[in-house]
Amino acid sequence: MGDREANIAFAEERLEACPEISSLKKASLYETEPVGYTDQPDFLNTCVSFLTTLGPEELLELTSSIENDCKRKRIIRWGPRTLDIDIIFYGDETIDTPDLTVPHPRWKERAFVIVPAKELEDIDVPVPEGSGVKLFRSRI
Ligand code: ADP
Ligand code: MG
Repeated sequence: MGDREANIAFAEERLEACPEISSLKKASLYETEPVGYTDQPDFLNTCVSFLTTLGPEELLELTSSIENDCKRKRIIRWGPRTLDIDIIFYGDETIDTPDLTVPHPRWKERAFVIVPAKELEDIDVPVPEGSGVKLFRSRI
C-alpha cells in the first residue's frame, strides 16, 4: 500500500544503517498480483542479501521494528500492508521456533521470492510456471 518503492527504500536504508549489517546487495524490483486475498493492489517484491553478526532472533526483532516503523497495518491475513519483511535464509541454518521458521516454509512456491533471490545467490530451484512476476525496476 502507499508509495511502495519508498517503503522498500525505507526498509533497505534501515538495514544498511544497522552497524551489525554489511555488504548489502539489492535485487531488482518485481510486481506481482496478490495471492489469496486478491481484492488489493499488486505487490512490489524484492530480495536483499547481507552479512550480519545479528543472530536470527535479533534479526527478526530488527525487521519487525522496521515493519512497525513503516506503519504496517495488517487487518486481513495476506491482505494489504505497507511493508512485509520475511527472512528466507539465514546462512544454511535451519531454525524452527514459535517465532521463526527458516528457511521460510513457502519460499519454493513463491516466484516473487525465487526470481529476485536468483539475482543475488546461486539458487538451484526452478521458477514456478505462470507466476506472473513482472520486472518493475532493474537494479542489476
Ligand atoms: P506473512 O509474512 O506470511 O504474510 P506475517 O508477516 O504477518 O505473515 O507473519 C508474522 C509472523 O511470522 C512474525 O511475527 C514472525 O514471528 C513469524 N515468522 C515465522 N518465520 C518467519 C520468517 N522466516 N520470516 C519472518 N517472519 C517469520
Ligand atoms: Mg512476514
